[in-house]
Amino acid sequence: TQALLQRIRAHADLGAFVAVDEELSLEQARAADERLARGDGAPLLGVPIAHKDVLVTRGWPTTAGSRMLAGYRSPFDATVVARLGQGGDGHPGAGAVTLGKLNCDEFAMGSGNEHSAWGPARNPWDRARVPGGSSGGSAAAVAACLTPAATGTDTGGSIRQPAALCGVTGIKPTYGRCSRHGLIAYASSLDQAGPLARSALDCALLLSAMAGPDPDRDATSLDLPPQDYARGLDEPLPGASAARPLQGLRIGLPREFFGPGCAPDVQAALRAALAELERLGARLVEVSLPRTELAIPAYYVIAPAEASSNLSRYDGVRYGHRAAQYDDLLDMYRRSRSEGFGPEVQRRILVGTYVLSHGYYDAYYLQAQKIRRLIAQDFVAAFGACDVIAGPVAPSVAWPIGAKGDDPVAEYLADVYTLPASLAGLPGMSVPAGFGEGGLPVGLQLIGPYLAEARLLHVAHQLQ
Ligand code: GLN
Repeated sequence: TQALLQRIRAHADLGAFVAVDEELSLEQARAADERLARGDGAPLLGVPIAHKDVLVTRGWPTTAGSRMLAGYRSPFDATVVARLGQGGDGHPGAGAVTLGKLNCDEFAMGSGNEHSAWGPARNPWDRARVPGGSSGGSAAAVAACLTPAATGTDTGGSIRQPAALCGVTGIKPTYGRCSRHGLIAYASSLDQAGPLARSALDCALLLSAMAGPDPDRDATSLDLPPQDYARGLDEPLPGASAARPLQGLRIGLPREFFGPGCAPDVQAALRAALAELERLGARLVEVSLPRTELAIPAYYVIAPAEASSNLSRYDGVRYGHRAAQYDDLLDMYRRSRSEGFGPEVQRRILVGTYVLSHGYYDAYYLQAQKIRRLIAQDFVAAFGACDVIAGPVAPSVAWPIGAKGDDPVAEYLADVYTLPASLAGLPGMSVPAGFGEGGLPVGLQLIGPYLAEARLLHVAHQLQ
């Protein structure tokens, strides 16, 4: 913990951390040492990790990258934070030590960590480029070895895409696998927490601690027993040999994921990774996800709609920023929200409010929900012919900070390969797959059927 805190200080220019409290981290580390001395066998005892700033933490401020929540301190830990760390409510906690809070796009809205009120996080491979988003601080911190692992959240790609752009491993679990209690809501039907780390094994160790039902606090958390995701990672598939551990596995390549929209350097890196999977015994088959193109318009209706509703709680009354001067109640709302929210968040609130309003609801929101259902059905059909789907995470390597600055749609288009699994609620993962233009990292996305996290981690582990 001490060594990493020093490293975090030395690399403050990366903008990965937005809150550090060395005394508090060291206090947790000392408590872990004492537990260790008593023979406590908690699985992550004393392991330093860090949390995305949309997960609330007792002791550290939580701002979700927004001026709206500047200085906010939560009186409780998010369920996933408690389970990884000090525990609570009858849960012992895995014993990890918190290093601090990680930068992200404001309220997790963005793909480049350029929409944080606290400034951008930078890509350690090239500090003039974005680390991806919205969990950009998480990916940058893991890639720069400021922490061995971090939490992130993924609504439409925010774990997978920054993991890909920074060359680390990340997994978005099945919707409902991890509790959303204490995850500051963006789009509740899509939000899901998960780990980013330097290997599939490390992701498995974190996910084992994070996952599990939370019936009293998140009614959408799935009622499934905890699972040890690290178990069996080294074993070949049933009937396969050690030399060809993936013998019998069918990997589906969606035709729509390998079109001209995906940059040639990314495609070349992916082909090499896929050839390696073939060498390990897997069989590549072509599948189709015909509504891939519709994922962007559907997501950018549904997510802002839910965001406009979730963010209505920031009214300057209960918590968050309140304007210093105002005429009356309405004026206080207006000024507090105009001052507290950044431009991208305001844009989403406007879009979301519009698509939910009387007269437009059927044309936009209801249509988007229908498309969402069709996209989920496309996956069901594709998984009839394969066990895992593979493709790009992002259409290009990391872009220069500011390059998409004035063009929100250009940023939305970069989400095309991550949104389908999000809309379908499926688990998705990003695994390092070599390098593209400029020696920048490329990620291979693995998408599994409902609840197939263990399968994704197993395939990813064979590649590592
Ligand atoms: N880039 C997408 C968005 O801006 C996804 C973000 C996320 O997964 N939180 O909404």
